Amino acid sequence: MEGTEWLMVSPRQPAMVRIFRILVQEEIHWSQDGERMRKTRCEGPGCAKCAEGERRQTRWTLGVIDRADGKPKLMQVGAQLMSQITEFATGSNPMRIFAVLGRKRLRNPENYDFTISREGEGRFGRYRITHHERKPLTKGEQSRVIDFLADIAGQAIKTK
Ligand SMILES: [Zn+2]
Repeated sequence: MEGTEWLMVSPRQPAMVRIFRILVQEEIHWSQDGERMRKTRCEGPGCAKCAEGERRQTRWTLGVIDRADGKPKLMQVGAQLMSQITEFATGSNPMRIFAVLGRKRLRNPENYDFTISREGEGRFGRYRITHHERKPLTKGEQSRVIDFLADIAGQAIKTK
């Protein structure tokens, strides 16, 4: 992902974004590494962490337009944020969020900017989203998105 920027939402720095694509869904583990908790990717069948009974969490890598500079970037989010987006799109608060794309939608999240803020660090972080008024992407924004998707096509997106 050389040259591809990641948008990080820190407690001090909320972000306004347009989400245009769910790119990757993966499972991760949090493990103790000295005094810190460290995030590692689940290796799937045969994973040593799974064998030790460590809990897995789902992470999504999204393609977003960062409204701070207008650039398409990658952003990694967890279930808290994805369930809020699903709730926005479907009007319901599902226990499982995997049906987001198959579920009948009231609102298409691709047509709205969201402000994402975060409270707390690392695995204790809590995300909140608020939406702005409906505003489909302009032709110029759409072509930037297409260029971005072409740039990252075929590249392995590694977890942050
Ligand atoms: Zn695992």
